Amino acid sequence: KTSALRVVGDDAATTAIPNDLQAFWMPFTANRSFKARPRMVARAKDLYYYTPEGKQIIDGTAGLWCSSAGHSRQPIVEAIQKQAAELDFAPTFQFGHPKAFELASRIAALAPGDLDHVFFCNSGSEAADTALKMAIAYWHARGKASKTRLIGRERGYHGVGFGGITVGGIVANRRVYGSMLAGADHLPHTYNREKQAFSKGEPEWGAHLADELERIVALHDASTIAAVMVEPMAGSTGVLPPPVGYLKRLRELCDKHDILLIFDEVITGFGRLGAPFASERYGVIPDLMTFAKGVTNAAAPMGGVVARKHVHDAFMTGPDHVIELFHGYTYSAHPLACAAGLATLDLYRDEGLFERSKALEPVWADAIFSKLKGQAGVLDIRQLGLTAAIDIESWKDAPGKRAYVAMDKAFHDEGIMIRTSGDCLVVTPPFIITENDIAQIADKLSNVIASTAMPS
Ligand code: PMP
Repeated sequence: KTSALRVVGDDAATTAIPNDLQAFWMPFTANRSFKARPRMVARAKDLYYYTPEGKQIIDGTAGLWCSSAGHSRQPIVEAIQKQAAELDFAPTFQFGHPKAFELASRIAALAPGDLDHVFFCNSGSEAADTALKMAIAYWHARGKASKTRLIGRERGYHGVGFGGITVGGIVANRRVYGSMLAGADHLPHTYNREKQAFSKGEPEWGAHLADELERIVALHDASTIAAVMVEPMAGSTGVLPPPVGYLKRLRELCDKHDILLIFDEVITGFGRLGAPFASERYGVIPDLMTFAKGVTNAAAPMGGVVARKHVHDAFMTGPDHVIELFHGYTYSAHPLACAAGLATLDLYRDEGLFERSKALEPVWADAIFSKLKGQAGVLDIRQLGLTAAIDIESWKDAPGKRAYVAMDKAFHDEGIMIRTSGDCLVVTPPFIITENDIAQIADKLSNVIASTAMPS
């Protein structure tokens, strides 16, 4: 049985969609296009996905920036299996289980400075909204309840909750979801192709853009502002590395005006930039820091917020029978996720994967730049840690179609998984990658760009 749904404006327009693909309404996906021409993976091991037919696909995106140690790693698999048999679930409202405390201690030990207290949730979106609520509740606890305004940044991505999309800077959210939460403002994003094109790592130009916070403070007054939230490196909107000195400047301005600084480290956490967290790489400690993705190597959903001591302690001053933070999730510190997290942190340590990520950064940058810079159709390359984004001009075989439809198919045929968003290709491999794998990824990128991009 097939559905009457057809794909519009695509060569798949005449392809009927099989009924067994109808029920799953896929997230962030052009459903009709995808279902007319599905790209399935059925199995994954280490650096590779495998299609149901057994075709090998190199994982150029560590899943969704999350399977940093490679797929289906045995120690993590075993930890989850053992935990499921031993304690499948326990609430953490008014109850505890040992692995929740153990994992929190391990994350606190890994986080820089006095980022010492860990609140668990289940995703990056929940982490972002948790951090924003914590910031507002912090000022409330300190008797400054007028400090509720939240400042984000253009081209920021903080997941899909109402807090995250409000503070984030993605125009599609504004178009579709309207005015969202009241009381937010935005710093400018830090990308300028004219000034920054093809800069490896952090661009030299742009630290002054942090000073825009002064304008926002002048407009709203610091007495109304709770927090500024940014990704140290904007990831989902196309890998925008922070200009040299930008994050330090933001920290100084937040201190000057008594505003909390929140780093969303959902992508940059757990070794992606060659250090446990970006805050360590840049020597800038935020007051609150989100994490998700790499904490469990993506083998179980988990996210969280790490708070500095002064933030946490502000909540611990009332009578000891009162709930300090009125917030939490049924699955906060789910035992399976905690077991996966502990096994993941062991694996990162035992295999030296953060150090490996750091050591491979120059190899990665050189391979991507030497292969792709100057290739027809490539407008810019940005890179930081084990990430890269390539801006592409236009498309030979996709007149009038959304570019990524053609590109995604070409990458699938070439046997590599990457992210395409708009006219930008994003590559973020697992840390277990070798120099040979890196060369292979650069070759495959180049082949696909050559076959689909319009020469400039
Ligand atoms: N924050 C950042 C910085 C992210 O990159 C993402 C996801 N890419 C999120 C939040 C949302 O995470 P999730 O999809 O797990 O909700």
